[in-house]
Amino acid sequence: MYAPPGVKTSKDMPVPDTMRAWVLGDPGDLKLTEKPVPVPKRAEVLVRIDAVAICATDLEIIWHGPPASIQGGMPFNKNFTPGHEYMGTVAALGPGVDEYKIGQRVTVEIHAGCGQCKRCRMGMYTSCHNYGLNYGDVDKGHRANGFTTDGGFCEYQVNNINTLVAIPDAMSDEEATLVVTAGTAMYGLTELGGLVAGESVVVTGPGPIGLLGVAVAKALGASPVILTGTRDNRLKIGVELGADHVVNAKNEDAVEAVRRLNGGKGVDYVVECSGAPNAVNEAIRMVNRGGKVCLAAFPHEETPVDVAHIVRNNIYLYGIRGEGKSATHRAEAFMSQKRFDATKVHTHTFPLEDLPTAIKYARERIDDAIKVVVKTRGSAAQRVAAE
Ligand SMILES: [Zn+2]
Ligand SMILES: [Zn+2]
Repeated sequence: MYAPPGVKTSKDMPVPDTMRAWVLGDPGDLKLTEKPVPVPKRAEVLVRIDAVAICATDLEIIWHGPPASIQGGMPFNKNFTPGHEYMGTVAALGPGVDEYKIGQRVTVEIHAGCGQCKRCRMGMYTSCHNYGLNYGDVDKGHRANGFTTDGGFCEYQVNNINTLVAIPDAMSDEEATLVVTAGTAMYGLTELGGLVAGESVVVTGPGPIGLLGVAVAKALGASPVILTGTRDNRLKIGVELGADHVVNAKNEDAVEAVRRLNGGKGVDYVVECSGAPNAVNEAIRMVNRGGKVCLAAFPHEETPVDVAHIVRNNIYLYGIRGEGKSATHRAEAFMSQKRFDATKVHTHTFPLEDLPTAIKYARERIDDAIKVVVKTRGSAAQRVAAE
């Protein structure tokens, strides 16, 4: 039985020595294997993974490689387990850990920075200057689950305590996997200045981050909140999450519609979540003079940007990576206070052994899939009504 030296376990929650884990072979190829259950070090706990959501970035990694970086290179055929949006139950404590208890439910953010570089010291651990340096003799202690180290498409994972967010019993496993997504939206709004009460906000792109971006902006008091996109079923969910107006860019010019809806003026903030090739040029025309644009998605190709318009109008552009500055804690607070219902973006659940099917649903948006969740214990495939 699992009993590594210096690690605290409990007979109430026995841990096996090995676990089921999906590993990435060639691009697009995942195999279910057995791996040893990992051992937490100082300031780390072992989390029994109960649920993990599939993210568009997982699909990028599984088929193309970046932004994953395993031992300084591509993630293929390195016994690497992807997956980063997971939650679970604390199952063992590394040496010195007294911040969490065995049996406690937690959700997990992705990045444990090195803790010693300039950016980590500023709370910008998702931009750690030692990103990916966690192997061989360049081990700086940086970890990003499912990006630079093993992630969550398995049964157990070690996590630094600085990546854990405690969750209440009333929050379901599926909802808890969405804290990190809402946290990314929260980080974007934090970087834009945070105090958006009474300010006008546009969110472009109704994917999971965009939809929860609407919810977070509304919960922060932004007014009006406008969502643009091309699919009516997703725009409808945006309304349920708090959008005051939605614009279907297939039916009308999104820039003109946004300006009209805000009294002819541009808005104060745009959170760009579509990654569409012309999204930056549209966003800088949606904001008013001195407005701010947060870029939370990216196109695959390099695209020309109207720099003159940005300079003449004193427009600020921010790129964000992930969910820094403990934004997940603020997102979790909104969710546990029921300020919005994040589960509206969760559409499907599959058991861990059906991960390839779950990924197919997420990738091909089968049955209007938005967030697809995989559960490690006792769940048959089911569709959750996304009403
Ligand atoms: Zn993600
Ligand atoms: Zn760092």
